[in-house]
Amino acid sequence: MAKVPQPDIVEEIRQAYARVGITLDRPATYGTYYRLLCGACGKMVGNVGDRLLPGMAAALVEQQFDLYATGGLGCPCGYQRNITRGLDATRWEAAQRRHGGAA
Ligand SMILES: [Zn+2]
Repeated sequence: MAKVPQPDIVEEIRQAYARVGITLDRPATYGTYYRLLCGACGKMVGNVGDRLLPGMAAALVEQQFDLYATGGLGCPCGYQRNITRGLDATRWEAAQRRHGGAA
């Protein structure tokens, strides 16, 4: 089933991930999945589908903030960790404390 990518959604996804230091690459599968690349070193850190509704990409990245902050998601080089710290230091510190118990 062919699907024409919706530029608005793709742009929205691009901007949502750019916020945490992740670059949206060309589609890995035609018009369906986009590769997510580390904004610092270019390593692939995941995929995202373009079948999101308006607002979903930003909400998704927002929900993943703590994981990026603690290195559970994102690139091993630590770029997303640094970026999220700059976005919201208070939340970032809280995330470290929650995940720091076992460290
Ligand atoms: Zn990286």
